Amino acid sequence: MRDYVVFSDVSKYYQMGQMVIKAIDHINFSIAKGEFCIIVGPSGAGKTTVLNMLGGMDTCTEGTISVDGTVISGFSSKELTTYRRYDVVFQFYNLVQNLTALENVELASQICRDPLDAATAVREVGLEDRMDNFPSQLSGGEQQRISIARALAKNPKLLLCDEPTGALDYVTGKSILKLLQDTCRQKGVTVVVITHNSALTPMADHVIHIKNGTVAHEEYNNNPTPVESIEW
Ligand code: ADP
Ligand code: MG
Repeated sequence: MRDYVVFSDVSKYYQMGQMVIKAIDHINFSIAKGEFCIIVGPSGAGKTTVLNMLGGMDTCTEGTISVDGTVISGFSSKELTTYRRYDVVFQFYNLVQNLTALENVELASQICRDPLDAATAVREVGLEDRMDNFPSQLSGGEQQRISIARALAKNPKLLLCDEPTGALDYVTGKSILKLLQDTCRQKGVTVVVITHNSALTPMADHVIHIKNGTVAHEEYNNNPTPVESIEW
């Protein structure tokens, strides 16, 4: 299904005193179900704004956003809360510091309809030996893995990641991208990754280049490159 996520003529304007900032300016694109999609563009292009609107964290000024056949751009704040709770996950929000890795994952699975077992999710990210550790006892990359496990435990329709390798060293960043690529392939979750790093684009099925709040061009890779073979 080509039209799992559809942005149709979507704009987001910010009023700054007398000035109107067009963060997103009549953008159009669609993302297929199960796709690994990378949204790439320079700083200030509008990437985070797109992701926040898709994740129900922000609303658009004009246009229509639909996900899995439902128009989310007209949602009330109550409907948006339900949407955020059950349908989408952001890879990054902070782990709760005084809960163990496993408890952090359980916390997420408690508020969704069809959760994956928390311990299974932790195992899937390769941290079964660290389940009882607190976040402060884990490296940055391990904490990222736990936040991905927490995302997986919710069995989401959409997994959204804003600059997932931003704060990580090269090798750890690569392993996180591999985990995201594997998750997409093995579980059929639609994954949308934002990056300013165009070297990552060969790993995606679909690449949306954005510039000045609009789509500059799009690419489709019939044979996406495994992350292991990408250098940057
Ligand atoms: P990116 O993630 O690609 O770096 P953003 O989506 O964060 O870009 O921002 C796109 C544009 O919108 C930028 O010019 C930014 O300054 C502006 N912008 C983003 N959020 C706000 C806001 N809350 N108020 C005013 N301008 C904003
Ligand atoms: Mg950003």
